[in-house]
Amino acid sequence: MVGMARSDHPQHLSSSLTPETLAVAAGRPDRTPDSPLNVPITPASTYVAGGSLEYGRYGNPTWEAFEDVVGALEGGRAVMYASGLAAAAAVLSLVPSGRAVVVPRHAYNGTVALLRDAARRGHLEVREVDVTQPRALVDAADDAAMVWIESPTNPALEVVDVAETAAAARTRGALVVVDNTFATPLVQQPLALGADVVVHSATKLLAGHSDALAGVAVAADDATYELLETYRRLHGATPGALEAYLATRGLRTLAVRFERAQDNARRLVERLAAHPEVADVRYPGFGTVLTFEPVGGGVAAHRVTTASRLVVCATSLGGVETTWERRRRWEGEPHTIPEGLVRVSVGIEGFADLWADVEQALAHA
Ligand SMILES: *Cc1c(COP(=O)(O)O)cnc(C)c1O
Repeated sequence: MVGMARSDHPQHLSSSLTPETLAVAAGRPDRTPDSPLNVPITPASTYVAGGSLEYGRYGNPTWEAFEDVVGALEGGRAVMYASGLAAAAAVLSLVPSGRAVVVPRHAYNGTVALLRDAARRGHLEVREVDVTQPRALVDAADDAAMVWIESPTNPALEVVDVAETAAAARTRGALVVVDNTFATPLVQQPLALGADVVVHSATKLLAGHSDALAGVAVAADDATYELLETYRRLHGATPGALEAYLATRGLRTLAVRFERAQDNARRLVERLAAHPEVADVRYPGFGTVLTFEPVGGGVAAHRVTTASRLVVCATSLGGVETTWERRRRWEGEPHTIPEGLVRVSVGIEGFADLWADVEQALAHA
């Protein structure tokens, strides 16, 4: 028997604590005199034999701290991976050979690319659906092994009813997965809404500082947890100890970062909607990501996003700094996403500074 049995871990914390408190209090060392308040970074490829860890690919105390926090927040058992897509690949390994996966056509483009690649290799069938149509995911779920929900979608910001979709998909025998990267467990706890697995790109809001790649999958039940943990062990999609530390440290401030960025996002939405150079603003009403299209389309979007001085022109999202990009600059972006669509990941800067920069950038449209 190699590796650790995570069920051995004591559950110190009451599940009635609020997410804000769990983000701060979970995943801490025992309170013995002189122990640090934070689980330290443990760079180890191997461990002295006879314990529960044994080898660096099987386990790491710094991963466990991160997993304990995310597991507490999502209400399940978490497995940390090297990136969000590594977590997605692990979750897709739960699909039996040749079976179908239903996915929103505007799910994260890496997820769709991963699914299409698996389909091309003959491993599974993909059904891409338009989630602006009511019950699209459920209607495509007959005989499907998995329904993959992403809500809101990236970058179309479409929202689906997770509870309703999960219930209907489960009666059809499909495993229900939710990519909760945009909403975070502060807004939406999919396992409580009936999902089987939650995945995150922890690279984004959970870690929150644009300095670490990480992913995590959270299982509602022990059997699924074991499969996901075994996948990591066998496929080697292991996070680094430093990344695990940074991601855990980032999680401590998730609630304040999220609230502040969401507040900035809401104010930005109002200002953008009233701006004469802006044609279309999309925002699901919560969260830290919004999109807009300049009146001048793709060319204007390119000019605007490269004219900012405070806002960084960069891909990715969920960091403390505001970033934006024209999404169609990516080859793989679906052509149903408009040429001029700018995705904005709103950070925690002072709003006056943020708006002043966005306004001067829009003058370049
Ligand atoms: C970025 C992202 C991913 C992929 O995560 P990585 O950490 O980049 O591998 C998956 N889902 C969503 C919604 C994302 O935004």
